[in-house]
Amino acid sequence: MPLTLRRSDLLLSANPIAGQWCGAAGGRRFDVTDPASGAVIARVPDGGLVDAIAAVDAAHAAFPAWRATPAKQRAQILKRWNDLILAHQDDLGRLISREQGKPLAEGRGEVAYAASYVEWFAEEATRAYGDVIPAPVAGRRMLAVREPVGVIAAITPWNFPAAMIARKIAPALAAGCTVVAKPAEDTPLTSLALARLAEEAGVPAGVLNLVTASRERAAEVVDVWLADARVRKLTFTGSTPVGRHLARASADTLKKLSLELGGNAPFIVFEDADLDAAVAGLMVSKFRNGGQTCVCPNRIYVHEAVHDAFVDKLCAQVAALQVGPASDPASQIGPMINARAVEKIERHVRDALARGARIATGGARLPQLGGNYFQPTVLTDVTAGMECACEETFGPVAPVTRFSDEAAVVAEANGTPYGLASYFYTRDARRIWRVAEALESGLVGINEGALAAEAAPFGGIKASGYGREGSRYGLEEYMHIKYLCQGGLD
Ligand code: NAP
Repeated sequence: MPLTLRRSDLLLSANPIAGQWCGAAGGRRFDVTDPASGAVIARVPDGGLVDAIAAVDAAHAAFPAWRATPAKQRAQILKRWNDLILAHQDDLGRLISREQGKPLAEGRGEVAYAASYVEWFAEEATRAYGDVIPAPVAGRRMLAVREPVGVIAAITPWNFPAAMIARKIAPALAAGCTVVAKPAEDTPLTSLALARLAEEAGVPAGVLNLVTASRERAAEVVDVWLADARVRKLTFTGSTPVGRHLARASADTLKKLSLELGGNAPFIVFEDADLDAAVAGLMVSKFRNGGQTCVCPNRIYVHEAVHDAFVDKLCAQVAALQVGPASDPASQIGPMINARAVEKIERHVRDALARGARIATGGARLPQLGGNYFQPTVLTDVTAGMECACEETFGPVAPVTRFSDEAAVVAEANGTPYGLASYFYTRDARRIWRVAEALESGLVGINEGALAAEAAPFGGIKASGYGREGSRYGLEEYMHIKYLCQGGLD
């Protein structure tokens, strides 16, 4: 089915650099494909070293004027951007669904979610207060003021093509920073459309520059930014191995870093939980975006007293999920992003079965729909050493483990290098505080499966990285504090 947009000019095949929409140096391009069918949707610039340098040159040149633009004016531009994103929610939702594969309703939902960050940071832009510090000696005045960090490099993954980039660009622009960004190879189209709307909202030339690149050239682009001392901050969302590499490689230029990395979220259902609420929470958090989210429960621990009842309720809902392409309004689970993703899911299921897990529902590919589809699956009798318990599956597989003891399950939940999200369900108020404080993660859902909100700090600890996006803390990531001291006033 052809991709039809109300505004066909939002399907872009050029990169915005210094206010011009350009091809890559040398004219290279790569295909953007529909994960549902493999059909080519567009061919976009395959940027490299020359384009990466041009983007930094532009962002660096634009920085002095943008940082000097009054915060209120920057806020107004961001508000217009928010309004334009929402006005084009349907077109942007279609772009997301087509290049990423999530059902259209989820695509539209992601647009609203992305816009919420733009609106939030438009408001925060005007509240980047500093402090007047009581001076310890006479005749002095002391202030701490916040300043934009400078040129920001933003690198984003494919699973939320609008939200991941919006929640980096919005606080950066709000703070007075300028941006160079590289979206994921699989999903560059949504970010290009967002950049076009930013331009229409009044973001000046050079303030927001995008370089799309194929997987083969991603490192070439990013390496330029890592080595360039004019890039003062790197904000990255993606896998932990790439995050580690970026942290090491940015050491020479000592960049400020925000790393939103992988997760391995536990989801614990205690014996006193409201089971229906727990199943509903798990359905939302596990199966949104086909299980391809960093905060997806990856290990589900259910108390032995309620295990069988919980699994029965869960399987009834999982088996009823409609799998199909985003173009079918009935679809609730779309295709996985690519063949590698399906191979990983299959490997995890195979490994679990070989080590004693059982399939309660699902468990196989759906070749009749296409190459990238996998059945929503529940595995039981999952144990700690299985691959599906050790790494993110990033697919619609819910691995369930039975437990009997609170302290032991909390220790097992924490027994991972990762620390992004955790969830638990209980009605015991004392246990709520005990477990919430013991869980090692940046986000904790207590009787709640949908955590993220623009007003809340999002980010991890341990191998899930550092830095926070959203909330009032999100703006701080793009600012540094300067201390001003005036003497001789007595
Ligand atoms: P990824 O492979 O780490 O890629 C993320 C981004 O980094 C992409 O733009 C990618 O480009 C680029 N990249 C890859 N290798 C690079 C290199 N050597 N040098 C410079 N850039 C490089 O991650 P992904 O598979 O796209 O995304 C899934 C991961 O993201 C999962 O682990 C998930 O948990 C994590 N995630 C975390 C959060 C969070 O907030 N903590 C949110 C969403 C996702 P290409 O696309 O061209 O490879």
